[in-house]
Amino acid sequence: MTAETPAARKCMGKDCPNDASSLQCPTCQKIGKESYFCSQDCFKRNWSEHKAMHKSQSNPLRNVFPPKVISKPDPATGHFNPFPTFPYTGSLRPVYPLSPRRSVPATIKHPDYAKDGIPHSEQVFVGRNKITILDAKQIEGMRKVCRLAREVLDIAAREAKPGVTTDYIDEIVHKACLERNAYPSPLNYCHFPKSVCTSPNEVICHGIPDQRVLKDGDILNIDVTLYHGGFHGDLNETYYIGDKALADPDSVRVVETARECLDEAIKIVKPGTLFREYGNVIEKHAKGKNCSVIKTYCGHGINQLFHCAPNVPHYAKNKAVGAAKPGMCFTIEPMISLGTHRDKTWPDDWTSVTTDGSRTAQFEHTLLVTEDGVEILTARLPDSPGGPVPMPST
Ligand SMILES: [Zn+2]
Ligand SMILES: [Zn+2]
Repeated sequence: MTAETPAARKCMGKDCPNDASSLQCPTCQKIGKESYFCSQDCFKRNWSEHKAMHKSQSNPLRNVFPPKVISKPDPATGHFNPFPTFPYTGSLRPVYPLSPRRSVPATIKHPDYAKDGIPHSEQVFVGRNKITILDAKQIEGMRKVCRLAREVLDIAAREAKPGVTTDYIDEIVHKACLERNAYPSPLNYCHFPKSVCTSPNEVICHGIPDQRVLKDGDILNIDVTLYHGGFHGDLNETYYIGDKALADPDSVRVVETARECLDEAIKIVKPGTLFREYGNVIEKHAKGKNCSVIKTYCGHGINQLFHCAPNVPHYAKNKAVGAAKPGMCFTIEPMISLGTHRDKTWPDDWTSVTTDGSRTAQFEHTLLVTEDGVEILTARLPDSPGGPVPMPST
């Protein structure tokens, strides 16, 4: 988000005398911190020490007092809360154990991080502000993977109802990816353990599918990304779980506001539009509905890489660099809250929640900038589940 020159920085590697290159730790990037290394080798050498910082950034005391307690497993189900002493901000709790890691046959092309969890190519090949322009053939690749990603999200959404676990949604997504000869991009991306992000109620994003059963009255974001033919396609929507959710004015307000914020932002996508402009449009609309905009997580460039330049903040008066040009692909994915914009991460190092426990909603599309506007590569199909609903009468 800042435009400082990377060369002016020192490498974060322990005792490393070198200046930093443009190589950043992807996990730090995701949580809005900047840590630069001189080389991939140096980053790898320092990984085990460096990754401890990710935890200390979410909770400075975590390394001093690592949680020793886990809740006793429920004798009937074997389920337990892995972090029972964590000060949760709302009523949601993790329900472990996670299901065993799902596998992807070797015949399906894997992204580079599938083995060791580190997205090497995101760091090495692209300067932080250099934005890839795709040629006609590459654009076809993006169209294809984004269409497949839409199919998979729609399949998952049809299964999201009261009584099923988010782990079941993960299983559905995983299988639907394999059936399309696609790798589920979240799986082992920076060590994410599952094939999709499922984020209910106060979870802003990056929820890990687990054994929690969806309840009538929940809202649930499902964030799907596929890797197919050498390209990633990324989209998400928030769904109402059961009739109670559809009858709750606050849930409808936050979900529909998030949906409208994305629609409003997409309206201004065309060559020349500055990346800092989307946040102004989004925050104006959100404020008009008495909602706030999450600042920590941004839209991103997407192509052969899952996350790359540009960085697309969703809040007003941001300082994002650059403007759209034909052939660029990026996401817009506003996260909108009924209460605070402040976020906090569970000790699983992924699940991001609002600090006041208020509900949030999110929508995301992968977009292609065309000569005169935009193509929504992950657009809804005529039979896509979900879609706008009216405000319930009170
Ligand atoms: Zn996504
Ligand atoms: Zn995304």
